[in-house]
Amino acid sequence: MMNDVYVALGSNIGDRQSFLDSALKEIDRLEGTHVEKISSIYETEPVGYKDQEAFLNMVAKVQTVLSPNELLDKLQSIEHALKRTREIHWGPRTIDLDILLYNQENIQTEELKIPHPRMLDRGFVMIPLYELQPDLHFPHTDKNFSTIIEERIDKKGVNVWKRNNGGGGSGLFEN
Ligand code: AMP
Repeated sequence: MMNDVYVALGSNIGDRQSFLDSALKEIDRLEGTHVEKISSIYETEPVGYKDQEAFLNMVAKVQTVLSPNELLDKLQSIEHALKRTREIHWGPRTIDLDILLYNQENIQTEELKIPHPRMLDRGFVMIPLYELQPDLHFPHTDKNFSTIIEERIDKKGVNVWKRNNGGGGSGLFEN
């Protein structure tokens, strides 16, 4: 069975866009997995540990046959392969991959929490996600997406860096 998943990508070291591109390609190459569409790329001010470079962030809609845990495992392998460094909590990283939503499932285990627990407060996640899927429904809330954005999200410090002009689907990775 195909599952609808939203994955957040972020990078703030080196050639940030190429880390995002490489991660997307690797995700698309996973068994039974397809990147269906992507948001624009946003440049965002660091949250938490401030003394670091600005991030590039984006969100991808992914279809996969992998289970949540299998997918987490594969995403962590991709992070590892792209040489993520994580000496400082919330510090600089070559690539960070988070599972935001997996269908409408609610998963609360030690290693995996879906919906991602901090997503609803993060402009760098919610703004690209809203661009990608404005009609998205969030598990366990009746609020629509635009209300959540209006009520909770600080839009300052989240700016479009490279607009995605409707490119998506199978043409994504031709080059
Ligand atoms: P971070 O450094 O913020 O990327 O956190 C990585 C850790 O978060 C990993 O050890 C994961 O097991 C855990 N984690 C919990 N929920 C999620 C999720 N929805 N997506 C990705 N990682 C998650």
